[in-house]
Amino acid sequence: MSIVVVGSVAYDTVETPRERRERQLGGSASFFAVAARGRGTVRCVGVVGDDFRDEDLDLLGRHADIAGIRRVPGRSFHWSGRYHADLIERDTLATELGVFADFQPDIPADWRDAEYLFLANIHPALQAGVLDLMRGPRLVALDTMNLWIETTGDLLRDILRRVDVLLVNESEARLLTGERSLARAAAAIREMGPARVVVKKGEHGALFFGRDSTLAVPALVLDDVVDPTGAGDCFAGGFMGSLAEAGVGRDAPDAAFRQAMIDGTVTASFCPEGFSVEGLLKVDDAAYAARLRELRGMMTP
Ligand code: AMP
Repeated sequence: MSIVVVGSVAYDTVETPRERRERQLGGSASFFAVAARGRGTVRCVGVVGDDFRDEDLDLLGRHADIAGIRRVPGRSFHWSGRYHADLIERDTLATELGVFADFQPDIPADWRDAEYLFLANIHPALQAGVLDLMRGPRLVALDTMNLWIETTGDLLRDILRRVDVLLVNESEARLLTGERSLARAAAAIREMGPARVVVKKGEHGALFFGRDSTLAVPALVLDDVVDPTGAGDCFAGGFMGSLAEAGVGRDAPDAAFRQAMIDGTVTASFCPEGFSVEGLLKVDDAAYAARLRELRGMMTP
């Protein structure tokens, strides 16, 4: 199965109470691609500037098909953020779209029949451009953020009508719907289009609102958090990877999506253990299995 992802391929400057890292590999599509690796063929659509290092493209290319990432003159998307002492709250210091500002998405012809499409966090016009080019994927999921909800809400609501699963964090769910209760917010989102909604709650885990069931999955309790940037995208990578590996389409019962919630949670747990994609790259079958056991243990009375 193949998964097409469009999203930011970026440089992130991240400051934590302990350390500052300048222009390291980041972006929603990058985290997603590395997180979903091994569960299907991940095909990335995006753009980088001529400042993007070969070694970073090579790294992505080891885990995903990057023929859809164009390199053009200009600066790569750059995001910069500073974490508070709790390593949860963060302030965005800069979001520089760079070459993403004039990017017109194009997808290699033989990618348009991909079964899965993930519209990772990026301007909704780019998400829509990619969705328009696809020929009937079995499942379309979308992630977004407060910036786009606030500045491009109408565009976002147009796309949501064509999406099967929306993944958002709790404040975004509230912002999008005006509802305080997450149950009500999820119900309102389901009326906008997506039959299933995943509400990510950071260190408190994630909620799934399906056609006829609800599931709460706690996050793993980590000994050491280095940099949580990208954990939401890694959740999405594990979630979509799980669905693609199992061949789950939009008509499948909630049970298949509930399993994907577990895989998303386990995958995301590795992300905060390192800067950039370093934590994710340490995952092997044994580490994954151990964490899955730990999560099951946390959920068993
Ligand atoms: P997360 O920690 O899951 O919210 O994801 C952070 C990642 O999202 C970073 O790697 C950023 O480069 C990327 N990012 C931040 N802001 C935006 C934005 N406005 N559009 C697209 N990607 C973004």
